[in-house]
Amino acid sequence: MATSQLNPPQRFLFGPGPSQVDPRVYAAMAKPIVGHLDPYFFQINMESREVLKRLYGTANDFTLAISATGSGGMETCVANFVEPGSKFAVLTAGYFADRMAEMGKRQGATVVRFDKAWGEAYTDAEVREFILREKPHVVGFVNAETSTGVFQKPDAICAAAREVGALIIADCVTSLGAMPIDLDRSGIDIAYSCSQKGLSCPPGLSPLTVSPRAMEWLKNRQSQTGTWYFDLKLLAEYFDGAHRYHHTAPISMFYALREALSTIEDEGIAERFERHRANHLAFVAAMAAMGLEMNVADPSVRLWTLNTVKVPAGVDDLKVRQYLMAKYGIEIGGGFGPLAGKIFRIGLMGVLSTEPDVLFLLPAFEEALRENGYAAPAGAGAAAAREVYTRLVAV
Ligand SMILES: *Cc1c(COP(=O)(O)O)cnc(C)c1O
Repeated sequence: MATSQLNPPQRFLFGPGPSQVDPRVYAAMAKPIVGHLDPYFFQINMESREVLKRLYGTANDFTLAISATGSGGMETCVANFVEPGSKFAVLTAGYFADRMAEMGKRQGATVVRFDKAWGEAYTDAEVREFILREKPHVVGFVNAETSTGVFQKPDAICAAAREVGALIIADCVTSLGAMPIDLDRSGIDIAYSCSQKGLSCPPGLSPLTVSPRAMEWLKNRQSQTGTWYFDLKLLAEYFDGAHRYHHTAPISMFYALREALSTIEDEGIAERFERHRANHLAFVAAMAAMGLEMNVADPSVRLWTLNTVKVPAGVDDLKVRQYLMAKYGIEIGGGFGPLAGKIFRIGLMGVLSTEPDVLFLLPAFEEALRENGYAAPAGAGAAAAREVYTRLVAV
């Protein structure tokens, strides 16, 4: 092993996650740790929990980050609220929705899927028809589907689920911290996210929230939750109440989250959402000017955090991505499953969702495409983005 100090390369994380980290967050991670039962740990945790509530748009007392990545948050929500033998209805139009359905199956539930093309959102009428017909115990959907770039509105899903008495689980991994969620207004009961996308923090924590209605349901659950580490009743005893030892929380990650949330508060939550919207719109205008097509046809259901752009005919997406990485240290993502080789996934989240960063990315992307067989009109993308910035007078 090399004995010199660790020296990772400089990258620009414009992919689907992890996103770029604020230097203030790195500085927080270098601070001395305290114990996982130290009052200071619970104090900074309470600070974070208050900001998480505002980002989720909820008054839920049970809003906190657990020691896990986003998938651990997903597993926690599914394992605690989807009982063996129950019916779990999942809106499956993407990779992460498939994962949620798979977790439901592993909990022994009867999973009913509603498949749709990757890149389309569900209409109010069709989710209503599906949920009223299936009458599930739990409905799961992905609010921000990172594999396709689709934003799924929660309102009609939640209204129909409540009509049949179902609990609602929402994946907010790529919306939290960068797009409004309005959890209480829409009626979502249970939601999870991660630290490394819209929050611009390293991966390792999963902020989740549970409504009083869902907590009540959990209290009355007869069967034992099939996972020990992710048992929310045990986690509640550690994070709240008696602070009984459950696991050794990764203290430095909780410092990081606290600091990332504090930078968000400094900026202002509404201002941060607007910044993400403005940079997304500028980016989309640039793609159009470059003759490129977005994978999500309907502009009203595009994520602001993650832009999916169709790979032009004859271009090898992997070569474009390798070019960007080798020449500029820029990371962007490719597609999965049915979209493998067909789309680029370009994240504009947190620290890198700014005008200078978009104007740094666009010429590099143009060059990488040109070197790989697709010549967009020179400078047209950046010019179109600049025009949007002038119009929005934002960021
Ligand atoms: C990234 C992601 C996850 C998984 O999170 P990890 O932190 O990678 O475990 C789940 N759902 C969506 C929508 C995601 O984008």
